[in-house]
Amino acid sequence: MLRWAEVHLDRLLSNYKEVKNLAGRKGVYAVVKANAYGHGSVAVSKFLQERTDVYGFAVATYKEGQELFDSGIRKPILVMSSTVEEGREYLRELPLLPVVYDFKELSLVKELSLPFHVKVDTGMGRLGFLKKEWDDLLLELKGSKVAGVMSHLCCADEDKEFSLFQAKEFERFVKAVKAFKPKIEVHLENSAAVALSLNSLLTHVRVGLSLYGSLPFKGYPAKLRQVMEVKAKVLSVKELPPNYPVSYGGTYRTRKREKVAVVSFGYADGYPRELSNSGKVYLNGNFYKVRGRVCMDMLIVSADRKVKKGDVATLFGTVNTFDEVADSLGTIPYELMCRISQRVERVYLGL
Ligand SMILES: *Cc1c(COP(=O)(O)O)cnc(C)c1O
Repeated sequence: MLRWAEVHLDRLLSNYKEVKNLAGRKGVYAVVKANAYGHGSVAVSKFLQERTDVYGFAVATYKEGQELFDSGIRKPILVMSSTVEEGREYLRELPLLPVVYDFKELSLVKELSLPFHVKVDTGMGRLGFLKKEWDDLLLELKGSKVAGVMSHLCCADEDKEFSLFQAKEFERFVKAVKAFKPKIEVHLENSAAVALSLNSLLTHVRVGLSLYGSLPFKGYPAKLRQVMEVKAKVLSVKELPPNYPVSYGGTYRTRKREKVAVVSFGYADGYPRELSNSGKVYLNGNFYKVRGRVCMDMLIVSADRKVKKGDVATLFGTVNTFDEVADSLGTIPYELMCRISQRVERVYLGL
């Protein structure tokens, strides 16, 4: 194998326990959309179902939900960002829970007489019923099979005050629903917000990022370990003459005779091309800089005597963490995890 992603399930378990500890009595919906942020949604979900008290799972699409059900997941599965129209075929056979966020969706789930969760917009400006619609919504919800209410925070990782405002807005809606559905599920918090204790009415949390070991913000009160380590082998090592171009465009030129190593991992695997001439990989205990442009299937790094063909480079791991690399690129760890492509085989360790 020339490129692979190790998924350390022992770390997932330990992160789960940390998050559960923050969640307290609340049930945990593990967010496993986008192939569990690149970790493999089936393996991750089966592991959590077998080894923890996880309450349920949350995905983005019906197809993602189907994959979980077909692999033996028998806990609630929330489908957070699709349409009932899209889900009709799936919903005929599978116990997936649609998230309803407008009146069109609501009338369709009511027609099909399906249980669902309803989402209100308290300040995210994405999916969900706006406050001015709540009166009409509440009338429609009476006598429906609504099983949960939810909202989503826009700034849980950076603005506690606004999160508290959103929680307060949400509370009003929740209280109105509880007047006729006292036992309903109530969830608002993502990974960042689990640390904020926003509201006593909440019964569940929806966490993704922290399970995978990234810190939602600096000082997050949990000991997390990055679950995924992305590795690739050195295909070739050679010494180039001085002033020799390296990779497309010759954007790096050797200054003297320089050794370089070609690593079998490129932007098609999920290594950001933005790291051309600036990234570094970890090899035999040292960091080596990326030289020239990152290619589709390969990248080139500086090398020395110690680097040999067949050596294993760490692109992302407990060094070069997703958090660190994301920071250096001005992006977020979520994006880097999701970008690790299908071609990179997932290897499950620490069972
Ligand atoms: C992705 C998502 C989450 C999980 O967020 P994390 O920051 O990864 O914990 C929770 N709720 C909704 C609606 C989401 O889309």
